[in-house]
Amino acid sequence: MFMKSVGRETLRLRVWFLLPLASVLVLATLILVTLIHLKAITDIDRFTLETVARAEHVYQDQVELEAEMLGAAMLVLANDRSLRQALARHDREQLLRGSATLFAELKKKHGITHLYFSDPNRVNILRVHEPERFGDTLNRSTTVQAQQKSQTVHGVELGPLGTFTLRLVTPWFDSDGKLLGLVELGTEIDHVLQAVQQQAGVKAFILIDKKFIDRQTWESGMRMLGREPDWNRFADVVLNLQANEHLPPDLVRGLQAGPAGEPQVVIPPAATCQRAGCHSSPAGGKKMVAMPVVDGSSAYRAVVHPLKDAAGRSVGNKVLLVDVSPEVETLQAKTLAVLIRESAWVGGISCVILLVFFYWLVGRVGQRLDEDQQRLRELADHDGLTGLFNHRMHYLRLKEEFSRGARTGKPISLLLLDLDHFKQVNDRYGHLGGDQVLKTISALVTSTCRQMDLACRYGGEEITVILPETAADAAMLAAERLRKIIETQVFAFEDQPDIHITVSIGVATSSEHCASATELTAGADRAMYRAKEKGRNRVERAPQQADQGAGG
Ligand code: GH3
Ligand code: MG
Ligand code: MG
Repeated sequence: MFMKSVGRETLRLRVWFLLPLASVLVLATLILVTLIHLKAITDIDRFTLETVARAEHVYQDQVELEAEMLGAAMLVLANDRSLRQALARHDREQLLRGSATLFAELKKKHGITHLYFSDPNRVNILRVHEPERFGDTLNRSTTVQAQQKSQTVHGVELGPLGTFTLRLVTPWFDSDGKLLGLVELGTEIDHVLQAVQQQAGVKAFILIDKKFIDRQTWESGMRMLGREPDWNRFADVVLNLQANEHLPPDLVRGLQAGPAGEPQVVIPPAATCQRAGCHSSPAGGKKMVAMPVVDGSSAYRAVVHPLKDAAGRSVGNKVLLVDVSPEVETLQAKTLAVLIRESAWVGGISCVILLVFFYWLVGRVGQRLDEDQQRLRELADHDGLTGLFNHRMHYLRLKEEFSRGARTGKPISLLLLDLDHFKQVNDRYGHLGGDQVLKTISALVTSTCRQMDLACRYGGEEITVILPETAADAAMLAAERLRKIIETQVFAFEDQPDIHITVSIGVATSSEHCASATELTAGADRAMYRAKEKGRNRVERAPQQADQGAGG
């Protein structure tokens, strides 16, 4: 009972209005959310890259710091005259006795895990940390370089156990400058990784390329360190278990998919190194990959860098895991704020779009209204069958002509045509036949008239023609011409192809006695009846004098 029936036009307008509105709003919201999301991701990536650059800085600094520490320890050893003599004599016992206490202290206080004494040819005399192993030649890059360059060399090197060790090798000389041998100190890299984690807030893992280590040696080495090795965890690399053993399962899956997982976000290396302190660019020219990792309620970005040893070989990868959980949380909150703020924009843009749309819509509706109005006017002014002006327009236009005539002083004439014996036409050829005759005669009247004349369907089969600025004689001529044209028009009906229809025409002209639309029409009507009386198919003029007119 509350529902009003809705017209088709209203329905269509509502669809026109609501569909674009809804589409614009949905589209704008989608675009906005996408933009905000993209910006949030970019922000997290930027944070990741900055953190990774900082971590790289800390890593480099820490390596140098540890090297300095090794250098200081080396100085203490080098100042021990008895050790130098023992090295010159290749005296294992003396070397062990002289260095064991100091080594134990260095190990305890500074995490120094390796101490080697080798002869000038790099043949190992004593491993203080593993005295039972000796006699082999040391071919590690740091040792070779120290021997060749005759100077202290340090660098991170991959050991046979698959662990990374920072090594410092110093050649010792006697007072004559003769090389006595090479002394090497080493510390495992987990110190460095722990420092990276503490100072840069980044977890670091080392992955070693399998081709640089022997499986059995690595596995026994890991067991010796009390860790369970898993050689088959990854295809090409093994995880160095020196620090941070918990790997998020996401990261493991990502790494298993390939050396650096599927690239999710790729950033050119230049971006990583814009900040001061970014020492190592990820493999010059290569792109760096930040892989999203989720572990429980924490969100991370993993960045994989190639790792080079002291000899410059790419021996594996350094995986830096940046905790972006707080950033993700902040960005979510920010996203909401931005969403609210940007909604104003969206609202503004939507308004402009709607304004443009409604401008167009109003134009369309207005155009349709104009067309409808035009159609209604046509219907109100014209006769549906013949297309001539109707009875109402006959009087309206006639009155207008009288007003104009009053100003110009020029006469107006009126012809009133009545079809002769039209009833018989209907009777013989049917009403449709009669209609056709009416239409044809109406068209003849219109085409015979001047531009300024006005033909109207006055009644059933009565047609009037208003002749502005036309005196009686001219009107008579026009009427006679019309009568003749109609008389000669041939109508064909079924078996009778040569039918002629005639009209009787009454003509009246305005004068001081006949100065209104009704008087002029009445005059023409009376004249028409006189034409009927006088035998039809003829033209009769209304008398100019009022008394004569009244007499009929
Ligand atoms: P006359 O005027 O010569 O005296 O004879 P008439 O037969 O024309 O006489 P009357 O005016 O009485 O009849 C007019 C006829 O015109 C009557 C009516 O059926 C017919 N008529 C009026 N309007 C239409 C129309 O629109 N279509 C058709 N087919 N016939 C119409
Ligand atoms: Mg009639
Ligand atoms: Mg008639």
